[in-house]
Parts: sequence; C-alpha cells; structure tokens
Amino acid sequence: MLTQAPKGTQDMLPKDAHRWQTIEDNMRSICALAGYREIRTPIFEHTELFQRGVGETTDVVQKEMYTFNDKGNRSITLKPEGTAGAVRALVEAHLYADIQPVKLYYANCPCFRYEKPQSGRLRQFHQNGVEVFGAKDASVDAEIIDLAMKLLNANGIGDLELNINSIGCPKCRSAYHEKLKGYLSPKLSCLCETCKGRFERNPLRILDCKEDAAKLTDAPAMLDNLCEECAEHFEKLKGYLDALGIRYNIDARIVRGLDYYTKTVFEIITDTPNGKLTVCGGGRYDGLVEELGGPATPGIGFGMGIERMIMVQDLRGVAPEAPALYDAFVVTMGDEARKEGLRLVNELRAADIRADIDHANRSMKAQFKYANKVGAKQVVVIAGDEMEKGVVRLRDMTAGEERELPRAEAVSAIAQAK
Ligand SMILES: [Zn+2]
Ligand SMILES: [Zn+2]
Repeated sequence: MLTQAPKGTQDMLPKDAHRWQTIEDNMRSICALAGYREIRTPIFEHTELFQRGVGETTDVVQKEMYTFNDKGNRSITLKPEGTAGAVRALVEAHLYADIQPVKLYYANCPCFRYEKPQSGRLRQFHQNGVEVFGAKDASVDAEIIDLAMKLLNANGIGDLELNINSIGCPKCRSAYHEKLKGYLSPKLSCLCETCKGRFERNPLRILDCKEDAAKLTDAPAMLDNLCEECAEHFEKLKGYLDALGIRYNIDARIVRGLDYYTKTVFEIITDTPNGKLTVCGGGRYDGLVEELGGPATPGIGFGMGIERMIMVQDLRGVAPEAPALYDAFVVTMGDEARKEGLRLVNELRAADIRADIDHANRSMKAQFKYANKVGAKQVVVIAGDEMEKGVVRLRDMTAGEERELPRAEAVSAIAQAK
C-alpha cells in the first residue's frame, strides 16, 4: 500500500515532464494571442456549487464526486470540472465589471471524479480549458472552437473532426422535452435502467446513451425544434466557421452530460488506430452565471483532458521526443581540475548552456560513458595537463573529433557548437 498510488491516480514521471510542459506552454501562448488570461481556482469548493453549477441530475453529481465533511462540518467537494469554480470566482470578484468579454483560461487544472476503475478513466485527471463570459454573439463560439483546434494541432493531434449541435435554451427546450417524452414513452420498457431514471429528469441525455442510442435514430431532434433566437445563433455559428475555413458536421446526438449547456455544444474528434476518440468538448452555458447568483451573463467554454491528449499522441505516434538532458558535460581528473570544472559549469549555465559535471567520483572512462548516456553533444576534458597549460580539450561526441583550446575560449566555443 505504502508504495502504491491510490487507484485511479498516476504520477507524472520525469521522463514525461517535457510532454506535459509543452502542452501547457502551447495553452499559454495560443490563449495569450487571443487575449485570454489565466485563472486558478481552488481544488475544492462548497459542494453546493457543483450541485447547482453542474446539475443535480448529472452522473457527475449523482455518482462521481469526491465529497466529504471537513473538520468544521462543511460539505466540501474536490472539483470534478473547471467551469463551476471559474463562474464562482467571476461572481465573487466581480470580474464582469472589468473588461468584457472576460476571457479566461486554465492550464493543467486537477479534476477529480470517482470513476469505475475498469472504465480506464482516472480519478484525478488534468484539464486545460477556456471560459468566456459576457459575449453572446456566435463569433465567440467560433473563436473558441478555432482555439481548440489550434491547440490540438500544436500538440501534434491532427485529422480533427468537428461536430456541432444546438441544444436550445430553456424556452425552446421545455417544449422539445415534452415532444421527446411523447416519442420515448411507448419505448420506455426497452430502454436501459439508467435511461428509465432519466426520462423525467433529463430525457435529452437518453439520446446520448451508448446502449440505447441505436434504437432511437428517428427521435425528434432538438435542432428541428429551436426557437427563433437559438436557430439564428446556430446559423451565425455555421457562417463564422465557414468564414474561418473550419469544416464541421452537424450531429444532433451531441447533448453533453452537464445540465447547464445552452445553444452551441461541440465535440472535436480525432482518429487513432484504436478508433475515433473525443479530444475536446465544450459549449455555451448562458444561464449558469445567473444560476450561481451573478448577474445574467452569457458564457461559453471548453475542456481538454491532458492525459487523453497524451494517450492520443501515443496512439497516433506523434509523442514528442524528450530533449537531451545536457548540451555539455565536463569531464575532470583530480581535485584542482574538479574545482576548475565546477567554475566552467557555472559559466556554461550562465550562458544558457545546459551543463553538468560528475558528482559521483567516477573514473574518466565512466564519466565519458555517463556523458554519452545523458545526451551531451560536447564534452570538455580538464585534467592535470590541461590545468598546467591553461587549456581544455573539447570533444564533439557526434563527430568524434577532439581539439585543444584556451580555457578562456571554452564557453564561446561550446555555445557555437550547440
Ligand atoms: Zn431557444
Ligand atoms: Zn440507456
């Protein structure tokens, strides 16, 4: 137990650090280009925030939350997703009183869901995401879709397929719910147990059920039942996507698992040898800020799981290679040479050259072997002879060539060869 991580968690090991960092760096740079600023919210919130903000009828709230009472007997929940916390912060800090729209992103945000171990999902996972508040035009829907595709491409994930849908607003959805229930009620006995429970609370989600969806292909679609405002929004979105040259499919099956979505919902899918996989999901949630006690403010966002992106990179064979640990390694022999070597390492690092020296009293031969193992392209040798003559020997490990040069020129010579 002591040396085993809890079920559903995993370490990010040093060998993978460059991958996580690149995904995070891409998030920061691409979001900054579009004026998004970072927000970091606490890992836990009052349970009520997610009950209200994610929705009582969702699987997340009903089955998957990490909820506990703290020592002050407050009900606390580890965040299962990124949006509710961002909305809470927006309302608490009156962010909407500043520049509108409020464009936010979060990077490497830990989220927690009590998933079944056999599902292959993690109980602690990490998300990148954006949220935009105060922009009701569909141009921002197109903007975040474009951002998501750019982010996936920057991480080597191509062959993207964009599926969009509209799930309407409370106004048109309630009329549609009645229509849908009328269609579903004679079929109810053939549906799975979960869907029988969804029938009253959230019939839209039945269309999303893996077990039952195939039996319901002729169900009335939300898209055909949108009110004028929602229909116009969807038309505008399509026009903006066309303008940006982004191809899309309309997929009436996308309903998203969370209650607070309105109008636009979308998924981005990629192809892998194991089949198609969703790598990003998002949508509009125009009622959420008000639901959580703020002024009526439209919102939209997406989330992207980092573990999933890394898995897809592996499946598609586009995992970025780990960079070599060092550019240069200093091999020394004898105490005085080691002191000189330490000074040289410091000078190299100050010149932005990744460098190190032996710290384990290895023989010269073993130091060379080590330099090779850590990928150093340049090796600097300082031993008794070199000390006396005020020189170093510089070996190019790729070409296998060695030359002697004055100690004072060592750093610039290595910088040039880098
Ligand atoms: Zn509507
Ligand atoms: Zn079902």
